[in-house]
Amino acid sequence: MLLSITTTQQPASDLGFLLHKHPDRFQSFNLSFGKAHVFYPESSEEKCTACLLLDVDSVELARGRGRNRASQFLAHYVNDRPYVASSFMSVAISRIFGTALQGQCKSRPELVEQTIPFTVQIDVLPVRGSEEFLRNIFEPLGYEVAVKSQPVDEKFPEWGESHYFNVTLNKETTLSQLLKHLYILIPVFDNVKHYFVGEDEIEKLIQKGEGWLADHPMKEQISRRYLKYNYSLTRIAMESLREESGLLPEEEKTESQPQEEILEKPLSLNEQRLAAVLSALKSTGAKRILDLGCGEGKLLRDLMKEKSFTEILGLDVSVRALEIAHKKLKLDRLSERESERIKLIHGSLIYRDERLKDFDAAAVVEVIEHLDPPRLIAFERILFKETRPNYIIITTPNSEYNVMWETLPAGKFRHSDHRFEWTREEFHQWSNRVAKKYGYHVRFLPIGPEEKDLGSPTQMGLFERNNI
Ligand code: SAH
Repeated sequence: MLLSITTTQQPASDLGFLLHKHPDRFQSFNLSFGKAHVFYPESSEEKCTACLLLDVDSVELARGRGRNRASQFLAHYVNDRPYVASSFMSVAISRIFGTALQGQCKSRPELVEQTIPFTVQIDVLPVRGSEEFLRNIFEPLGYEVAVKSQPVDEKFPEWGESHYFNVTLNKETTLSQLLKHLYILIPVFDNVKHYFVGEDEIEKLIQKGEGWLADHPMKEQISRRYLKYNYSLTRIAMESLREESGLLPEEEKTESQPQEEILEKPLSLNEQRLAAVLSALKSTGAKRILDLGCGEGKLLRDLMKEKSFTEILGLDVSVRALEIAHKKLKLDRLSERESERIKLIHGSLIYRDERLKDFDAAAVVEVIEHLDPPRLIAFERILFKETRPNYIIITTPNSEYNVMWETLPAGKFRHSDHRFEWTREEFHQWSNRVAKKYGYHVRFLPIGPEEKDLGSPTQMGLFERNNI
């Protein structure tokens, strides 16, 4: 199986720097499923082609199955894996071109951001679907696509075309972006994945798909196929993508887009909210704390300082927010003991999650308004019935107060990703119903300055389980 990447951007031999593989050398690598070779059939100033050749050893793979037992199925020994581009190719790309995939080039950093005209040749791509499907995947990303299908057998044209295609892609882009597209998309065409698909695959999908997948018209099909039709993983991935497209890069948060923080700044409402949640948590005597929808980790930072909290777990559906939290909280620099105490996990609040069991209290700060109203039922059940901590603290905007924000047009929400904003009455009704249904009692507290007839900008519900 052969993948070739060609550029004519001069000097074309710079491709060697970008890929971290010298054009004059033929290099071979051992991988768990066989060997990979990198070589350049052409490398001049005008044109440079790098080839990644995979030599998948299906006999070795079959022997490795089921621990020491060799497989008894013929199809495990004789199959198309050695000849087609599949998930093996993605593994090879990340192992062999990993630095380029991450967009790093120490010796020539200026090349990394450069868009370059590339031609990619995938010699045999097995496509479960039509040529149209293949085009619908690559063309929205700006690729010019040329496809040649292979007959089942050249000697018997009446047998028709096979589902194996030779594919040529042309696009001007950065090398890192190109490799990310190939990494995610090559296995999407094929139904077979050679490794177990678990939660870490969502993370790979979201990370490598950052900046392009959330806006791709086929994002659902791509995610579903990439995650091998595992529906619950796909649903989590789709939510993450939705969150990613709502999450604006830092520099885009300008005055012209009145996002929550800018609006609320004069009051420093955020600080008041965190202080209120923290003191409510302390007053319960809880030791093991969940921060659900922890975002970039503002509350977690305060929780970490409080020694009475012995275990802190932050969960969010957005991988990007978790990465920012990880960085801001400097989690990679913690002592072993501290890193046992605080953990971040990726997950969604509307799916059952065993990792959330056995905590004393949960804070859900400015999160429920990000959930689609039909999902609230699942959220309630997961939090109040399955997770069931002794104390639950929920904060959400009070929509009556919105008239006080001078820059917020009437009828608009405080944040573009809010699905609803409740009046005090609406929040009380929801909270009372949920508390009654699941055996809790609830009190309400205002956060921020109170206005007559309008209440405070944030409302907080403190739920305590009956008969603790
Ligand atoms: N609690 C944080 C972040 C609030 S913003 C703070 O006060 O700063 C809302 C957060 O909820 C975002 O980080 C978003 O990714 C997260 N979120 C939205 N839907 C979610 C879901 N279904 N499961 C988990 N987190 C979710």
